[in-house]
Amino acid sequence: MTFELPNLPYAYDALEPYIDATTMEIHYTKHHAGYTAKFNAALEGTEYENKDILRIMQNIENLEGENVDAIRNNGGGYYNHNLFWENMTPNGNEMSEFFTKKLIEEFGGVNIFKNMFEKAAATRFGSGRAWLVKDMDGELTVISTPNQDNPLARGQIPLLTLDIREHAYYLKYQNKRPEYISNRWNVVNWEEVEARYNG
Ligand code: MN
Repeated sequence: MTFELPNLPYAYDALEPYIDATTMEIHYTKHHAGYTAKFNAALEGTEYENKDILRIMQNIENLEGENVDAIRNNGGGYYNHNLFWENMTPNGNEMSEFFTKKLIEEFGGVNIFKNMFEKAAATRFGSGRAWLVKDMDGELTVISTPNQDNPLARGQIPLLTLDIREHAYYLKYQNKRPEYISNRWNVVNWEEVEARYNG
């Protein structure tokens, strides 16, 4: 195996009541593990085997060969889920004064930013993700992407992601996607998000 499923940084029930233990367990052991296995299988025997994950994601539009779609979908699934878990921590933590100021400067306010992010997530048709990203010039932007696409392919650095595929919330929230989206703020690991910004 080239890429390994990383350990979850907390227990399955650690994000309760916002994300339930059963959803976490299935999401991690079935979906994320599935993407990881399929990503490795798709890479096998190609020139992209043993390449750095960031380089693969950044160059995803330029890959060649019959496995390109499988690498794109499963590689994105592998990388994006790693990020999604790392972006969260039980009960969340505080945004720093620095980052609060940065969000006010970029979006006009923390709640304005949150509303933009929620809207990006709620209006993404079908499956995909909402993101807070850092552009090449250092500015912050809210975007959404379909399926398992990743902003690295657009030259942006992903800071915060929200998985809005139904497998991420349907057991607990069913059709209430907006409730899942707004509840997720309770478990955001801002220290980790900011480390990505500063990195
Ligand atoms: Mn997912």
